[in-house]
Amino acid sequence: MSFENLNTERLVESTVAPRDVVIAGDHSTEPDREARCAICGTPQSDAIGLPVRYANPVCKECDALAVNEEGSEPWEGYPPSERPETDDSVIHLEPDHGENPVYIAGVKCWRRYRFGGWITRRDAYDCSSLEEFREYHRLDGHPIHAFNVAQPGGVELTRESCGSLQDRYQCLQSIYEDAQSVADNSPSESAVMDLWDQLERLDSSITADLLDPDQFTPREVAVMLADELQSLLQTRLTASDSGAWITRAKLCNRYFAE
Ligand SMILES: [Zn+2]
Repeated sequence: MSFENLNTERLVESTVAPRDVVIAGDHSTEPDREARCAICGTPQSDAIGLPVRYANPVCKECDALAVNEEGSEPWEGYPPSERPETDDSVIHLEPDHGENPVYIAGVKCWRRYRFGGWITRRDAYDCSSLEEFREYHRLDGHPIHAFNVAQPGGVELTRESCGSLQDRYQCLQSIYEDAQSVADNSPSESAVMDLWDQLERLDSSITADLLDPDQFTPREVAVMLADELQSLLQTRLTASDSGAWITRAKLCNRYFAE
């Protein structure tokens, strides 16, 4: 395995130095280096769904933030214009493809669609097609990892832009903890409604989705809040509209994790 064969001229600027590029499959050169997500830098042992056998792998949590060039959710299966008429008596098997490239925090990635799912890889060469991506991201037949560090470069995240998101996330976390602790006691109505109001100020789309608190006892409302916040705070692999900022805050948390 020789790094001299690595095409360095076209590597995008944010990649690591060529000698630090990890060649997956060649454990003899890098016995201790753990594979990391090419976007958030989370090591394999902490990452969720990191496809380490592929070039510049992207974890499932980062993948949930992918958009197309227009900023919308990438299509998969049939392109929107070719979707067949639905006929309940026929089961359509969707073809194994979907949109490419996709962008995560401003970074260009390519998806490999197969078996009804996909894996996502970060582009180190600013490729113009999937074929080109496949050709460039291998060295002696092995996939390369050109962003295998904590806080990979080129990702559109700054301490400033992340700061307020992370503060907001922290507030959500503390409302959750308070809701949990009051639910375990016999809460007063005012204590529970205070939490409700805090949550409404933080993100009114969350309280709008809940049942009318007037129909329940204070304890039931506290349990309802705790359950809802627990599911929002737990890892969600899809970014719903109301929870989109939470998914972005989690990316900040992973990227700037010590
Ligand atoms: Zn990631």
